[in-house]
Amino acid sequence: MSANPEVSEHRTSTADLPQAETYYCSFCLRPSDEVEKLVAGHGRIFICDECVATCNDYILTGTSARPPRAPLEEAPTERLLSLLKPIEDTVEGKSNQLQSVVEMLRSRRVSWARIGQALGISRQAAWERFS
Ligand SMILES: [Zn+2]
Repeated sequence: MSANPEVSEHRTSTADLPQAETYYCSFCLRPSDEVEKLVAGHGRIFICDECVATCNDYILTGTSARPPRAPLEEAPTERLLSLLKPIEDTVEGKSNQLQSVVEMLRSRRVSWARIGQALGISRQAAWERFS
């Protein structure tokens, strides 16, 4: 299994990731040092063990025993500030993944028109954004 979460398959735990970085659950946005395990998806997307448990509850029973989170509008300022880095990391990871997939498509000689069409943007906009 690769140590690089951007190319890893699912089932990567934080033990498999470079320890110098902090990773965040893409669902609850908690950092890796506050959760027991993180499962890596593609493009720096992670899910923690507690969010997996919540998903399992929902899949098995159609509901979750866990209380819903308070709306962000009600969160203290410090909590909102603490969310900025995890959100930025998630967005940046997906952006890098998007760029990589576009580059793969271009290496396969897929046209900017087809890439733009898949994204719902013009050929020109796709070229300007990704070339
Ligand atoms: Zn989580």
